[in-house]
Amino acid sequence: MMSEMTTTTSKNLPNNLNAAPASMGTAHRLPMLTANRPVKISFAHGSSSLVSGPSEVLIGDGRVALIAGPCAIESHEVLLETAQAVKASGACCLRGGIYKMRTSPDSFQGLGESAFSFISEVKRAVGLPLASEITDPRQLGDFVDSVEMFQVGSRNMYNYELLKELGALNKPVLLKRAFAATVDEWLKAADYVVKGGNENVILCERGIRTFENTSRNTLDLNSVAYLKMHSSYPVIVDPSHGTGRPELIGPMSLAAIAAGADGLIIEVHPHPIHALSDAHQALSFDQFAAIVGDVRRVAEALGRKLTTVEHAT
Ligand code: PEP
Ligand code: MN
Repeated sequence: MMSEMTTTTSKNLPNNLNAAPASMGTAHRLPMLTANRPVKISFAHGSSSLVSGPSEVLIGDGRVALIAGPCAIESHEVLLETAQAVKASGACCLRGGIYKMRTSPDSFQGLGESAFSFISEVKRAVGLPLASEITDPRQLGDFVDSVEMFQVGSRNMYNYELLKELGALNKPVLLKRAFAATVDEWLKAADYVVKGGNENVILCERGIRTFENTSRNTLDLNSVAYLKMHSSYPVIVDPSHGTGRPELIGPMSLAAIAAGADGLIIEVHPHPIHALSDAHQALSFDQFAAIVGDVRRVAEALGRKLTTVEHAT
């Protein structure tokens, strides 16, 4: 059963685990530290979303967590409309960049600070926790009050000072793989967070850069199967950046779940072609809903269920 595969314990680890080369990250031995401990996303205490929103979401407990939302938070309206739609389709967590790491300085860089004025209200209204990318340790103060899952983007996987800062928190860290990182480098980046005392690391495979140019990146699902066998981190797959093509997001979502992923993070926008960031890969609400239906069927065939949000009473 898939639920057994996704809960790695020291008992069912491959026998050769401890024979991993000394150069490999300590994460290869992490089952000793975090066996059977799903990541708990807790709402920031004192934030208003604690009152009427969900109390917690578990990632890495054998269920399939769907994180969805716009690439960038563009406005109160777009965030609210998207949050309502993805929740209705089965997402347990909202995504949306406040600060965007764009390749060109001329591209939309995210709303930045001004987004914090409405994020809590949207979360309160919809009841979903938010995953958002922190690009600089100076954003920590604002993030702690408004963001439940701290995403480290591909371009920042090697930002060890940022990772050390996140190691001092008790918030889940969604650590994306850099587009030219080996799995070992990625695991060592995770070590920076864990060594600081924060074991709530979720790895996110978002594709790597190869010679292939029919898709934006090559979604490496080998890494997902490998990590589910050789580490105890929950692993999320990002088929939006992994393919960069809307028509490939559905098939690769299903493949990711079949490979053992603990969930998916998918970009969704009310009007994909008008998205201010990553418009070419954004899904419409209907496209997302259809993919969730297929994901649910594949998950059920493997004895798994979709993650639900637990509401505070
Ligand atoms: C994103 O999630 O919008 C993003 C920029 O992802 P990545 O860091 O994987 O490119
Ligand atoms: Mn994006």
